[in-house]
Amino acid sequence: MAAKDYYEVLGVQKGATKDQIKDAYRKLALQFHPDRNKAPEAEARFKEISEAYAVLSDDEKRRQYDAYGREGVYQRYSQEDIFRGADFGEFFRGFGGFDDIFSQFFGGGARGPRRGEDLSYHLQMNLEDIVQDSTREIEIPRSEVCATCNGSGAKPGTSPQRCGTCGGTGQVQKVQSAGFARLVRVTACGKCGGRGYLIDSPCRDCRGRGTVQKTRKISIMIPAGVEDGHTLRLRGEGNAGEAGVPPGDLYVVVNLAPHRLFARQDSDVYLEMKVGVVQAMLGAELAVPTLYGEVKLSVPHGTQPGTVFKVKGKGLPNYGGWGKGDQYVKVDVEIPKSLSDQQKELMKRFGEQR
Ligand SMILES: [Zn+2]
Ligand SMILES: [Zn+2]
Repeated sequence: MAAKDYYEVLGVQKGATKDQIKDAYRKLALQFHPDRNKAPEAEARFKEISEAYAVLSDDEKRRQYDAYGREGVYQRYSQEDIFRGADFGEFFRGFGGFDDIFSQFFGGGARGPRRGEDLSYHLQMNLEDIVQDSTREIEIPRSEVCATCNGSGAKPGTSPQRCGTCGGTGQVQKVQSAGFARLVRVTACGKCGGRGYLIDSPCRDCRGRGTVQKTRKISIMIPAGVEDGHTLRLRGEGNAGEAGVPPGDLYVVVNLAPHRLFARQDSDVYLEMKVGVVQAMLGAELAVPTLYGEVKLSVPHGTQPGTVFKVKGKGLPNYGGWGKGDQYVKVDVEIPKSLSDQQKELMKRFGEQR
């Protein structure tokens, strides 16, 4: 299924203003709201336009979408996160609450099907790596649906048999009598382990489990300027679940290594730099390292120890926003520990002249 462009979905131009997006959504939402439109495809359309609106009405999500498309949005936000940020209240005031439809989108939450396990991965990065958006390939050991049996666990050519004990429900009722009362307890079927089916001839590749262990290469997009400890959620990239159950998610935690030169504070970068006493007194042009290579910094004559200079725009990109931070250079004036006789003589004369 080729996912349509969000702008197309709402019928607006790529550079549409927020108001134009809002207007377009309002019109379409009234047309396809499930309370008004009972056509079978209306709900899907409504969800589609609502998703497009939720993304395009939010600066950060829109930026992510413009740069990386839907994949980029899905990689960074869960379905719920996509909708949660947007304000739908103003559109549906007259209707029976947006929350109802909303919960339909997500299957009501609480009693969803079991999923595969979530996985986590720690990604080591340096400050230099996050001066722009980047893509990393990581290797994740995880369980995947067995390709031989398609996850059924049954040898190809055979199929799992419905469990006769529980009739395929995976549950059995146990009736206990306590005096006159009869207690009905529902427990997992012991014969099939609650799966509802039995496998006579297990698949040889997965030994009937339906999943196999694989190491998978996954490309992930790391947004510029992320903080240490930032966690990216990759939906569906965790362990496969039992047959027919969605996989878990993969959480990638970005760990930024301490830098040998720079300290970081939000999007600003701090550097301490030694300057010779003569340079400080007479002024000098310094070659200052930054995350983007060396820049020249003019230090005026008479610069005092501890003076901080600002190098504009050489900090990190603002995470999820526009522009960059700055670099601050603190000057540490170095006093020579030893002088030659000639230097001592010159310093004496210098002192006398003051
Ligand atoms: Zn198999
Ligand atoms: Zn059973």
